[in-house]
Amino acid sequence: MSHNVLDLSALELREAVASGELTAGEAVEAYLDAIERREPHLRAYNEVLADEARAQADQVDAQRRDGLPMGPLAGVPVALKDNLCTPFGHTTCSSKMLADFRAPYTATAVAKLRQAGAVILGKTNLDEFAMGSSTENSGFAPTCNPWDPKRVPGGSSGGSAAAVAARTCAAALGSDTGGSIRQPAAFCGVVGLKPTYGRVSRFGLVAYGSSLDQIGPLGRDVADAALLADVISGYDPKDSTSIDRPVGDFLAGLDRPVHNLRVGWPGEFFSDALDGEIRSAIEKARDLYKELGATIVDVSLPHSRIDTDAAGNLSSYAVACYYIVAMAEASSNLARYDGVHYGHRTDRPCDDILDLYSRSRAEGLGEEVKRRIMLGTYTLSAGYYDAYYHKALKVRRLIKNDFDRAFEQCDVLLCPTTPTTAFALGEKTADPLTMYLADIYTISVNLAGLPGLSLPAGVSAAGLPIGMQLIGPVFREDLLLRAGRMFEKASGISRLAPPMVQ
Ligand code: GLN
Repeated sequence: MSHNVLDLSALELREAVASGELTAGEAVEAYLDAIERREPHLRAYNEVLADEARAQADQVDAQRRDGLPMGPLAGVPVALKDNLCTPFGHTTCSSKMLADFRAPYTATAVAKLRQAGAVILGKTNLDEFAMGSSTENSGFAPTCNPWDPKRVPGGSSGGSAAAVAARTCAAALGSDTGGSIRQPAAFCGVVGLKPTYGRVSRFGLVAYGSSLDQIGPLGRDVADAALLADVISGYDPKDSTSIDRPVGDFLAGLDRPVHNLRVGWPGEFFSDALDGEIRSAIEKARDLYKELGATIVDVSLPHSRIDTDAAGNLSSYAVACYYIVAMAEASSNLARYDGVHYGHRTDRPCDDILDLYSRSRAEGLGEEVKRRIMLGTYTLSAGYYDAYYHKALKVRRLIKNDFDRAFEQCDVLLCPTTPTTAFALGEKTADPLTMYLADIYTISVNLAGLPGLSLPAGVSAAGLPIGMQLIGPVFREDLLLRAGRMFEKASGISRLAPPMVQ
């Protein structure tokens, strides 16, 4: 029984629970058992909340026995990135600073999952405060990629992506500031959606770069991503940047193919920086769309261009712009972790309050987080503000304008999610710049506030998943998901299972 339960998608699982074929209690036990067996090889979870999960499953089963209406996720075991506030368990952001922190309130996205009947299995690992692309910046321990434990799962939502791929949860939530849902989804062979900025409430998501952050789902296939996106989307008065407009029903329209789909092909993204196998997988996807009746349109995103110098070093306006904006926002958002308002406080004797702040921060925050706070503070300081921060905002506008122009000619853009497949643990930790370049295809989407979907496009010769990315105009998640579903159905590339679960 437990083997079959783990094979069900979130959608199938909720149907099995709703029809009485399976109880929520059986589903949660199957997942807790899988966690026990696989976690030692993965370390995807910071905290498994077995008692809470069992109690939530009991509630769902009681509801069904009493003939009460069942929510759209009734009995579906999900995992949450550990930067989403929950009233149960801890919310650590994988930082020593918040190792003992318990949130006094619930993130809106989490409350919506609970209302829909989802069962929360636990909190997943991330790069500290979501700063990173490999989960190696976690203040606790890195997560391993279920396809190859010597490789990273991507980041920063690496724990969520690894858990979905390894079937230690049915689906998960992550957050995406510069690619943190899509890049780990690509590395782990699952589907990840970064919604339009303002589509999902950020209330209760621990802030990193507030003008970029968005919560989104990770699932085994496009339908599961649509199912979760339906539940968590919508206006929330508690987040002033959430947008008050109707959400629609992503799942209901999913199987309707998009007629006369115009697929934009951004030539700039297919430079030498791109791994050959990834290029050919994306070209195959393009050809499949053509067979399905789509028109392929060449488009240009000049300010997201990737340059390579004579020595082979990569550079991109988008990467430079993103890291200035994100670090500036981070430096101000993370000022609250001072040992008084929140988090770790030093035990050592202090001379005065400033000494207390700086010792507490020095002890509680990791290297990468400190680097970003310092760089962000620098770019915001008088004298450098215009040269860096203000200039980055202008570049951000140019990047957005490029997308607006492209969407005059096409409905969605097709491109890679990542320049390479999952890299080895330790490979990029010595050089932060090479780590930042893991995001070249994802960050311009956040700068422009657009929705982006990553879905599996194949598996490399070395047995690692390859991700493709669809980017859409604001509030067209429906189009992205339908276009993604068209590919998934026609290619048969879906619900990839890493060797550890086969
Ligand atoms: N890798 C990017 C960064 O380090 C993106 C992280 C994210 O989306 N949270 O900032």
